[in-house]
Amino acid sequence: MRNTCGLARLLWLLPPLLPLPLLHAQTNIRYELTFDTVTARQRSLHVTMRFDVGSAAPVQVSLPAWTPGAYEISNYARKVSNFSATAAGHAAVWDKADYDTWRIRPTSAGTISLGFDFLADTLDNAMAWSKPDFLLVNGTNVFPYPEGIGPGFPAQVTVTTTPGWRVLTGMERAPQGANSYQAGNYHDLVDMPFFIGRFDLDSTQIDGTWQRLASYPAGQLKGPARDILWKQLRGFTPAEAAVFGETPWKNYSTMLIFDPGYGGGSALEHQSSHVGIYTPGFIGTPLLASITAHEMFHSWNVKRLRPADMVPYRYDQPEETTLLWVSEGITDYYADLALVRGGVIDSTVFLSVTDGKRQHTDETVPVSLEDASLSTWIHPTDGTADIYYDKGSLAGLLLDILIRDASDNHKSLDDVMRGLYQTSYKAGKGFTTAEWWAAVSAAAGGKSFAEFATKYVEGREPFPWTSIGPLAGVQYLVDSNQVVRLGVNTISDSSKVIVTAVIPRSAAEAAGVEPGDQLVRIGDIDVKDENFGVLFRSRYANAVGSVIPIVVHRNDADKILQATIKRELVVTARLLYDPRASTKPARIRNGILKGTTDK
Ligand SMILES: [Zn+2]
Repeated sequence: MRNTCGLARLLWLLPPLLPLPLLHAQTNIRYELTFDTVTARQRSLHVTMRFDVGSAAPVQVSLPAWTPGAYEISNYARKVSNFSATAAGHAAVWDKADYDTWRIRPTSAGTISLGFDFLADTLDNAMAWSKPDFLLVNGTNVFPYPEGIGPGFPAQVTVTTTPGWRVLTGMERAPQGANSYQAGNYHDLVDMPFFIGRFDLDSTQIDGTWQRLASYPAGQLKGPARDILWKQLRGFTPAEAAVFGETPWKNYSTMLIFDPGYGGGSALEHQSSHVGIYTPGFIGTPLLASITAHEMFHSWNVKRLRPADMVPYRYDQPEETTLLWVSEGITDYYADLALVRGGVIDSTVFLSVTDGKRQHTDETVPVSLEDASLSTWIHPTDGTADIYYDKGSLAGLLLDILIRDASDNHKSLDDVMRGLYQTSYKAGKGFTTAEWWAAVSAAAGGKSFAEFATKYVEGREPFPWTSIGPLAGVQYLVDSNQVVRLGVNTISDSSKVIVTAVIPRSAAEAAGVEPGDQLVRIGDIDVKDENFGVLFRSRYANAVGSVIPIVVHRNDADKILQATIKRELVVTARLLYDPRASTKPARIRNGILKGTTDK
C-alpha cells in the first residue's frame, strides 16, 4: 500500500473493533493456498483470494513490502505471476494502482475472486521456498489485504495439497474442515507461517502448554539430536516465561529447515512460532539452542512488548525505531540468560559467550545503539549492520547490574521487562524511549540513567566494564604482550586460508600482502588452516629482523613476497568472574545467573 490517501491511512490506524464507514465493503474474506507435486515442479504455489462486495465500486488489494522482524523491504509482489480476477463469475477488469496494489472494477455486487501464482524460490525466513516435497511460505508473501478497511478483518485460509502431506501453521483451525484455518485480523493472519509437505513433526507439553517441533527434510533432525533440542526447549522455556510471569501462546511451533547450501543459521520470530534455517552442522550445538531461545523470547519481547514506533505494524513501508536494540539486543541477553537459568549451559559458557559479544563490539567501529537500530533497514556495509544484537545484549547486562546494585539486588531488568509488558502491551500500546528509561529508573529506586543513555545508548562511548563489571563480581582484565605477528585477518574453508584484511603498519602490509590473497606458505610453514598463526608465532618467536618468503596465490598464480619478522604490542582484554568478589557483587552475580532477587 503506497501513496494512500489520508483517509485510507487514518482507517488503517483505527482500532479493529470500531465500526467503519462502508466505503469499501469487502466482507467474507478467504484465501486458498494450493501447493502439491504439480505446483512444486514450477517452484510455485497458487493463491486464491475471495471476498464479497456490496456495490460496483472499484476495490484495491495490496501485498506487503516486508515481514515484521525481517527489517528490510522485500516487495513480495515481485514474485507474483498470472494474476487474474473475476467478479460475480465473470472476468473482471483490473490494473495496478501501484507496483504492489491491484485495482479491480466489478460491474455489480457479488463475489470477487483473485488468483495468482507465487514463486517460492528463496530460502529465507521471510520468503517462500519450495522443494519437490516441501513449502515454506509466510503470510506476508501471499495474503493481499484490501485497501481502506484497516487490518481488523477476520479471514479464513484453506490449504489444498497432495494426499499424505502435512500442513503446519500457528493459525487456529477453522470449523470448516481439514486444512482450514482462521485468524481474527490481518496482523495474526500474516504472522503464522506455513510448512506444507513432508517433514518431521512431534509435540510435547512444556511448562503447561503444547509445543510442536517441525523439521525439514524428514529424517534430518532425529534420534539423540532431536532429543537434545527437546531437552533444551524444556530447559529454557520456563526460564523465559518466568521473566514475564505468563506464557502468552496457546501452543508454540519451532519450525526448522536444514539445508547444506545455507551458510550458517538464521531465524525469524512470530507470536506463537518461529522459522529457523540452518546448515545441518548446527544440529546438536548450543548455538542452535541459543537462536531457538532468542526467537522464543521474541514471543514476548517485540511480538507483544513492542516499541510504539512499530504499533501497529504497517506493511507498506519501513517502520524505523531507535529502540531495536531493546527488541533484539535485550532479547539476545535473555536468550543467554534463559540457557544458563534453564541449565542448558553453565555459568562459564555464559561468560565466554558474553565476552565474545564484548570482543565483537570492541572490534566494530563505534556506533550508537540508537543509530544502529535505525540503520538496520539499509544494511550498513561498515560492519555495524548487526551490532545492535551483541552491543544491545551487553547494554542489557550492564543495566541489569546497575538496577540490581541500586536496589541491593531486590529488583532487576526482569522487573523492567515484566512491568513494561503490563503497562504497554497489556494496555494495547507500544512503549516509548521515555517509558523505557522511566521503567529502568523506577526499578533502580529512582536512580537516573540519563548519563548512561547519553553516553552508551545515544552516544558511542565504549562500555565502562571496569566500573560496572565489579558490581556483579565480573573483572575486566587487559593484557598486553609483545609478540611476533604477521598482521592479517583471514577466513578459511576446508582447503584454503584467504586474507580478509591486512593490519596497517604490519609485517604483512610491508611485504605487500593484499586482501583476497590465499596464503600458501609463510617461511617454511605450509598454510593449511587457521592454525598457521600459532605455528608462525612459535617458529619465528626469536627471529625478529630476519626476512622470510611469503607465498600467496593471487590472480591464478603464486606470488612470492618478502616479509621482515617484527614484534608488535598486542592488547587482549577479557571478562572473568572474580573469585574474591565480596558479598553484594556475589549476590548480584548469582541473581543474574539464577533469575532471582533478594526479596
Ligand atoms: Zn531477533
